[in-house]
Amino acid sequence: MIRYCTKCGATNDESAQYCDTCQAPLTPVGGGYQPMQSVNPGQMTDWKAMGADKKVVAGICGILLGWAGVHKFVLGYTTEGVIQLVIGLVTCGAGGIIGIIEGIIYLTKSDEDFVRTYIQNKKGWF
Ligand SMILES: [Zn+2]
Repeated sequence: MIRYCTKCGATNDESAQYCDTCQAPLTPVGGGYQPMQSVNPGQMTDWKAMGADKKVVAGICGILLGWAGVHKFVLGYTTEGVIQLVIGLVTCGAGGIIGIIEGIIYLTKSDEDFVRTYIQNKKGWF
C-alpha cells in the first residue's frame, strides 16, 4: 500500500506519517480505517451555515412579534415584513395570528426543509 501526499502528490511508504517530499502530514487512504469525519466531507451539507441557524430565531420572533413582521425581516423578506406590519397595525395585532402560525411552521421544519423553502426558494408566506 502506497500513500499519496494530498499536498504535493508524492508517493510515500505505507508506514510514513509525513510526506518525504513536503513534510505534510499524511492521511490514511484505503483499508477502511479512516476516522468518520474524513469520509466524504463534501457530502455533508452544513444547513446551519446556509441559514438554518435563523430557524429558531425566526420561529420565536414569529410567535412573539409576528404581528410586526419581525420574523420576515429576520429572513430578509422586507416586502412581506412591511405587509405583515401593516396588517398587524390595521387589525390591532390580530394579524399576528399569521406570524404565530408561520413561527410554528418554521420551528417544526427540519433544518434542510427550512433552508430549501425559506432561504433558497424565498417562500414569503407560510
Ligand atoms: Zn508531499
